[in-house]
Amino acid sequence: MTFSDLNLIEPLLQALHEEGYTQPTPIQEQAIPPVLNGDDILGCAQTGTGKTAAFSLPLLQRLHEAGPAHPAKAIRALILTPTRELALQIGESIAAYGRYTNIKHTVIFGGVGQTPQVEQIRRGVDILVATPGRLLDLMNQGLLSIKHLETFILDEADRMLDMGFIHDVRKVIAQIPAKRQTLLFSATMPQEIQKLSSSILHEPVYVEV
Ligand code: AMP
Repeated sequence: MTFSDLNLIEPLLQALHEEGYTQPTPIQEQAIPPVLNGDDILGCAQTGTGKTAAFSLPLLQRLHEAGPAHPAKAIRALILTPTRELALQIGESIAAYGRYTNIKHTVIFGGVGQTPQVEQIRRGVDILVATPGRLLDLMNQGLLSIKHLETFILDEADRMLDMGFIHDVRKVIAQIPAKRQTLLFSATMPQEIQKLSSSILHEPVYVEV
């Protein structure tokens, strides 16, 4: 199996080649086709399995193929992740994989000044990578809106729960249009996460590694 067997477009294949990736990992093989197809995903996978590329590559492709945002500068995809470190890592991966696309992204998290983050968003980003606290904070100040989201990705859902963020996560989800693609990844599937999954996913494809 190669990345071109998964029907990824040339700008992504070129970037993957430069990253030195020769073949997809199992989670990428399983998740990329349904995500490209627009399906919801429930993914049981830990960090280190190649999960970030499994959701980022098809996300970049769908946004690239869909053309510019409507309305202009609307945020089209949100990746919610529990920590600043994970958010930064995801941002770096998207920058690397998306370098030959025209997709813009930014990363926001707490503990630093909000002004540079707000300025980035104002210039227009397709993909926002965020931790829940800072995201809600900027939303509550009216500095960003997620009402035009097409795709919502919840990363490390079980860690969100462990870190006490699940209430914030639900508040964020309440602001996202019901008609969307949703991908939920979790290393473990405790009951609370199963409950959340069944309330936010629509006929999900289950992928596990
Ligand atoms: P992740 O599970 O997303 O944190 O990825 C773990 C590591 O695997 C990261 O350093 C990626 O750059 C790397 N990686 C992801 N997919 C592949 C692949 N198909 N081939 C080689 N390395 C990969």
